[in-house]
Amino acid sequence: MAQRTILRSYARRDLDNPAEALPNSILFAHTGTTLTIYDAYPKSTFHFLVLPRLKAVATSQDGDKKEKEKEIVDAMGLGLKEGDLKSLKRLLRKGKEKARKILEPMQEAAQACVKEIEEEMIRMYGFKWDIWIGFHPVPSMEHLHLHIISADLCSTALKNKKHYNSFHPKHGFFLDLSEVLEWLDAEQTFFEMKAQLNPAEYEPFLKEDLVCFKCHKLFKNIPKLKEHLQEEFDALIKREKAKQERLAKQKRKREEKERNEREGSASTATSVAASTPKDAEDIEAVPEKKRKG
Ligand SMILES: [Zn+2]
Ligand SMILES: [Zn+2]
Repeated sequence: MAQRTILRSYARRDLDNPAEALPNSILFAHTGTTLTIYDAYPKSTFHFLVLPRLKAVATSQDGDKKEKEKEIVDAMGLGLKEGDLKSLKRLLRKGKEKARKILEPMQEAAQACVKEIEEEMIRMYGFKWDIWIGFHPVPSMEHLHLHIISADLCSTALKNKKHYNSFHPKHGFFLDLSEVLEWLDAEQTFFEMKAQLNPAEYEPFLKEDLVCFKCHKLFKNIPKLKEHLQEEFDALIKREKAKQERLAKQKRKREEKERNEREGSASTATSVAASTPKDAEDIEAVPEKKRKG
């Protein structure tokens, strides 16, 4: 299967049909209208894609033909064809309202995925860090897809400047989903200007210098930058670990203090009742001493 069109082939699958089901190594989750899959070449510790689903619908019941004529349309039933979902640019051409109806379910699927990533971050690392959600204005693969990627860019599949700059959150190539949704609320002229997604405007961002997205330090080449990104990530893990330890220590101290206060107030009470196991032992010990003596 051609790599460039593989996402479309996933989007066309009828997942209720066992013969067309996607393996767990590819499919992470799905709804009636969206698929969430693992990015085959993750550029960060966590990297997923959300795609709108497609479905085949019969367009004619021509008796002369053995097979019904079929057309591939979006699963939302908005009257959008497969080609209208080829890219964000193609979708935006269909106008604000149709774009919103496709993008909002994708946003919901992304939010559900973010929740699961955060749980996994806590299980694996003991803390969670940022997750970016957005599009590439000039995509490398066909069929609209939303990237959900953890903010570390530490991955062996990140191999060149284009990979890195396409996810750098501030260079301008990576389009936050929230920004794209804002265009849909903007004036029509502004929307139309943004919706052009002109490659000549965006592609130069991919050629910009290699700058750390955290500390803005400049790097001569990808191996040097990658080494630094790993150091940034290791430092984050170390800081978070120290923070967790500090919090745990504070919690222990607080609990100890509360326990001492409880015990302190119990021992100053004039009540003869044995309020703690220790007191109970002392009382029981008395008759035994008497027996001995
Ligand atoms: Zn992409
Ligand atoms: Zn840095």
